[in-house]
Amino acid sequence: MIVLILFGPPGCGKGTQGARLTTHYGIPSISTGDILREAVRDGTELGVKAKGFMDAGELVPDEVMLGLIEERLSEPDAAGGFILDGFPRTIAQAEGLAGVLDRKGFAVTRVVNLEVSRDMLIERLTSRRVCSTCGATFNVKTLPPPPEGECADAATACKGEGIIQRKDDRPETVGNRLDVYDEQTAPLLGFYGDRGLLATIDGAASPETVFDRVTAEIG
Ligand code: AMP
Repeated sequence: MIVLILFGPPGCGKGTQGARLTTHYGIPSISTGDILREAVRDGTELGVKAKGFMDAGELVPDEVMLGLIEERLSEPDAAGGFILDGFPRTIAQAEGLAGVLDRKGFAVTRVVNLEVSRDMLIERLTSRRVCSTCGATFNVKTLPPPPEGECADAATACKGEGIIQRKDDRPETVGNRLDVYDEQTAPLLGFYGDRGLLATIDGAASPETVFDRVTAEIG
């Protein structure tokens, strides 16, 4: 059973690899950012709690995130393994996750860290555009969205309207998100390194190359 943590700063390619790995292994890729964005869109209690933090590029409090992940991992589709994208992001979350996994009789298989320079992260994040319906990602420089602004994502064929720039991908917020990563999330590299679970891969390579390296790490 695979319990893979996709790790790295915003813009390193976790979402792109998560989608590919889901197809390859037939296990869900669980993005806490996607879950929170959906909650914000639906105006749920969780969404109301999270929105201010997200718009500012700050982390949503650990207690909220731990409750969310425990609930998500109890869903039937996660019983045969899963990929985590964007969780854990603090030492407290990593410790909480270890407890949740322990109670379920699961353990982390591997933590794959996608390493990308800060300049490239800023470039990728500020160029990113997303479909507000299905979450497919585009890039104004390398993978331009259709000119009519209608999503034509090959995987979902969602035909949703409205390709947008995430509020937190705007230049004024991106710097803060990267600082938050350096201060609160990067220490997890030591946490998982000490446990012999960490593999670091050059995330600047093409998505195909990164995918091949990630699958090689999982074995
Ligand atoms: P992402 O799509 O992973 O970049 O997440 C977008 C935003 O959601 C982050 O900037 C945080 O505000 C929030 N978020 C997502 N995952 C977490 C987490 N594990 N802990 C705290 N906040 C999170």
